Amino acid sequence: MIFEIRAKDGLGRVAKLSINGKNIETPCLMPVINPNLPLITPKEMKRLFKTDIIIANSYTLYKSFDIENIHKFLDFDGIIVTDSGSFQLMQYGDIDITNKEIVKYQNKIGVDVATFLDVPTKPYANYEKAKKDLEITIERGEEARMLREGELNGTIQGSAYLDLRKYASIQMSKYDFDIYPIGAVVPLLMEYDFSKLTEIILTCKKYLPINKPVHLFGAGHPLTFALTVLLGCDLFDSAAYALYANDNRYLTSYGTKNLNDMKYLPCSCPICSKYTLEELKASEEKIKLLALHNLYATYEEIKKIKESIHENSLWNFVESRIRNHPRLYYAYKKIKEYSDYISKIDPFIKNTPLFYTGEETKIRPLVTEAKKRLKRVSTKRDMSNPVFNYPKALAFTFPFNIERDIDLDFDQNAESLKTIFDYQFGRGTGKKFLEETTVKKSKTNRIRYIYGKELLATLRARDNLFTLTSEGAKRLHRILRYPHYRVMASEEVVPFILEGRDLLSKFAVSWDTDLRAYEEVLVIDSSDFLLGTGKLMLSPKELEYFERGVAVKIRAAVKL
Ligand SMILES: [Zn+2]
Repeated sequence: MIFEIRAKDGLGRVAKLSINGKNIETPCLMPVINPNLPLITPKEMKRLFKTDIIIANSYTLYKSFDIENIHKFLDFDGIIVTDSGSFQLMQYGDIDITNKEIVKYQNKIGVDVATFLDVPTKPYANYEKAKKDLEITIERGEEARMLREGELNGTIQGSAYLDLRKYASIQMSKYDFDIYPIGAVVPLLMEYDFSKLTEIILTCKKYLPINKPVHLFGAGHPLTFALTVLLGCDLFDSAAYALYANDNRYLTSYGTKNLNDMKYLPCSCPICSKYTLEELKASEEKIKLLALHNLYATYEEIKKIKESIHENSLWNFVESRIRNHPRLYYAYKKIKEYSDYISKIDPFIKNTPLFYTGEETKIRPLVTEAKKRLKRVSTKRDMSNPVFNYPKALAFTFPFNIERDIDLDFDQNAESLKTIFDYQFGRGTGKKFLEETTVKKSKTNRIRYIYGKELLATLRARDNLFTLTSEGAKRLHRILRYPHYRVMASEEVVPFILEGRDLLSKFAVSWDTDLRAYEEVLVIDSSDFLLGTGKLMLSPKELEYFERGVAVKIRAAVKL
């Protein structure tokens, strides 16, 4: 299995997931296929939605069919994940198959990702029972790891008890599963208990290996996707599209509607464009058409989330989405308790300005982090917006530039450039860096370029933060003592960095652990010789665990 981050925001990530040579991009939806009730076939899904990963229940398959090869049986060449029958176990209390048998069965029929027979404990079950169930789950996980040929889900149980979820995450991490599903959360979703869901996800995330995908088992409603992706969930499965269709219910990213209560079809998918509500209700194919709409709505929300990760606006997007249900809004506030953990992974510099959407914007980990960094700056804080008190010099600098069209009759001068520099690289760095420099303005009459003998730095228009040239990096390297703002490259890649090639995560040896993703950094060799400068693409925690992906995107290699 390959899992490689392409873009990130919050704990969310757009990543390449490759299993048995088949590639998908997460966050991703896995439609649940029920071969007993094939409403939409996998082939049709692939044609209509470009579906390249599906999930089926191996217990149902085992009971109802004689299967040699699951891909042939389902007529689907993408990734097939199977669940184990744990859901039936939770529903009926007992099933007639052992953990060993169900794992071997999944080996035999050739699934891409198998699941062992974990014991799901409902939220708020008796603590002793939850603990006992969890011990059995962990034992079975260990047994399955030995038996499974290929990728295996390591489901995390522990009911609504955070100490048990933590224990489960730590124990299960030892067996190096490929994907970590968070199990038995469906009752919480049904009850709209998104606060407990948030706590469970963040507890698990904190103790699971960061380089493995997390699957939120049974979460298929687009209402909760944005929040749960922000919290670090990568995979979702949806039986909801079909179950809700059977029940006359119409899914949207802002909630569930009943067809009988509606007057319009407020969507532009092929189904809602072709049919009026009356025609849809009267159609013989109503359930299938409704299921198709439900899938369109579900996939659309995933695409919107991916786009917002790509442009680093996921927090803004989530803050608009949590207004779709009060329980989502309250759940979002739980994030505050996990701020330290999140801020170490969340990119500190974003391509999109911070939007102030309401009081809850202030709990973003980035806000706390920016306030900490303001302490590097000695200039008086003579400006304020709903989130920050800040010095005027930072009025155009991210994240203080909330009011983009603020009518300020000032431009940077030498003093304000120092303030920006201190904020970005540390107290006192601005004065030293700007010694014997001149500035050049842009066409819009704003200071944009800092020159020594050559160009040293550019003040980026988007967020009013500095990017360095080769000469500028040399100057900063002399000012900042090791290990500040540095990422050390392994010796074997030194010639490549000097050619301007990116530093891959695998070859990053050590780094300043106070750095945050998307900051400008210096790349050095093992003797602190400067090789280049660029943008740090991963957080220190991710650098530690990810073998793949770019660690530093090199902007300029040092000219020798
Ligand atoms: Zn529609």
